[in-house]
Amino acid sequence: MALRDILIHPDPRLKTPAKPVETIDDGLRTLAQDMLQTMYAAPGIGLAAPQVGQLVRMLVMDCVKEEGVPPRPMILINPRITWSSDALSTYEEGCLSIPEQYADVERPAEVEVAWTTIEGTEASERFDGLWSTCVQHEIDHLDGKLFIDYLKPLKRQMITRKMVKLKRERARA
Ligand SMILES: [Zn+2]
Repeated sequence: MALRDILIHPDPRLKTPAKPVETIDDGLRTLAQDMLQTMYAAPGIGLAAPQVGQLVRMLVMDCVKEEGVPPRPMILINPRITWSSDALSTYEEGCLSIPEQYADVERPAEVEVAWTTIEGTEASERFDGLWSTCVQHEIDHLDGKLFIDYLKPLKRQMITRKMVKLKRERARA
């Protein structure tokens, strides 16, 4: 396992729709484990393959936050939302590709998601709370969409300018 570099916005790879996974091979299994390790190390609760520069439809997440509750690392391949609740909920979102920037985003409160597991079997589950926000945020990444795309243009441009500056500083360091 190895830590992967997380791309920082703005980057064209974060705006590119990812391709469906067709074969689950050793390369994909390694990528999934690396993504989990990278997510926990960040630390974060979700990470999509495009964020580490791999334009394939796979995401990892673990939204367990309660003390004493065992971690629940999840790997979702080709995830798709099969149902969304009419009820909405607002959550202050952040993103490992947009460090230290947070903003309220409104999304369906509950979603049902179907996906292929890393073992190649089909799975589906209904998510609510933080899990629901997280899985929708990560699936957006697979479609080249960021949480700041839900914000008003002025706010989005402000965050983007901060990220350009951050990248410049990091490149110089
Ligand atoms: Zn994100």
